[in-house]
Amino acid sequence: MSAIPAVLITGASTGIGAAYAERFARRGHDLVLVARNVERMETLAQRLRQETGAAVDIVPADLTRTTDLAKIETRLRDDARIGILVNNAGTAIGGQFIEQNVDDMTRLVALNATALVRLSSAVAPRFAGAGEGAIVNISSVVGVAPELGMTVYGATKAFVLFLSQGLAHELGPKGVYVQAVLPAITRTEIWDHVGADVDSMGEVMEVSDLVDAAMIGFDRREAVTIPSLHDAGLWDVHDGARQALLGNFVNALPADRYRALA
Ligand code: NAP
Repeated sequence: MSAIPAVLITGASTGIGAAYAERFARRGHDLVLVARNVERMETLAQRLRQETGAAVDIVPADLTRTTDLAKIETRLRDDARIGILVNNAGTAIGGQFIEQNVDDMTRLVALNATALVRLSSAVAPRFAGAGEGAIVNISSVVGVAPELGMTVYGATKAFVLFLSQGLAHELGPKGVYVQAVLPAITRTEIWDHVGADVDSMGEVMEVSDLVDAAMIGFDRREAVTIPSLHDAGLWDVHDGARQALLGNFVNALPADRYRALA
C-alpha cells in the first residue's frame, strides 16, 4: 500500500459519496469512483483532478448486478494502491411494507447489504495481510429505529451497523480500521427517490456538515460515528445496555416465566 492510499468510494456520483470523494482528494488521496452515472462522475473527477491534482479513476457499476459487482471486487482484491474502501452506495424505497414491491425490496437488500458484504470480503484479506487499511460503511440512524416505518431500509442499515461492529472486532486486532457512520436526515437526492420533500422536514443536515463530521470520527478511529447525536453519552448508554445482556443470554434452562405452571 502506498503512503497515502487510494480510496474506492461507492455511490460517488452525488450526495454523500461525492462529498467523501472531495474530502479525500483534498487530503491528497487518489480516488476510484464507483456508481452508475458516468457523466456525473466524469464532471466530479475532472474538477477534482484540476483542483487537487488527485488521480481519479471511474469504474461504472450497478452494484445490484453480479457481473458489475464482481468487477469492483476484482479491483479491490488486486489493486494494492487502494487502502480505504467507503461503502456508501445505497438507496431507499417509499411506502409501507405491504405497499412495497418485493422485487424493489430485493434490489434494496442487494445494494444496501449484499454489496457491502461482497466488497468488504474482497478487500479485507488484503488489508489484514498488510496490517493496515480502513473500511467505512454508511449505515443510518434508521437502523436503530424500527419505529420509523422504513422497515426494509432500516433492516439493511441495522445489518450495516452490525457488519461494521463485527468486522471491527475481527479486523481491528489485525490493524484494519472499520467505521460505521449513521447519518440522520441529510439533504441529498435519496429523499426524491422515496417521494419525500426534504425541505418539509425539520433538522436537515447539509452533506458537507455530515461528511466533515464523519471524517473527524474517522480521524479519531471511532467505531460508530453519529454526527447528528449531540449527547454522545446516550449511545454509550444504549451500547452499555446491549453489552449487559450478553452475559445473561446463555442458560441451559428457560427463564421462570417460560416454565409451565404446575
Ligand atoms: P443519493 O444522493 O441518492 O446517492 C446515492 C449514491 O448511490 C449515488 O451516487 C448513486 O449513483 C449510487 N447508487 C444508487 N444505486 C446504485 C447502484 N445500483 N449501483 C451503484 N451505485 C448506486 O443518496 P445519499 O443520501 O448520498 O446516500 C448515500 C448513503 O447514505 C446511502 O447508503 C444512504 O442509505 C445513506 N444515508 C443517507 C441519509 C440521508 O438522509 N441522505 C441518511 C442516512 C443514511 P448512481 O445513481 O449514479 O448509480
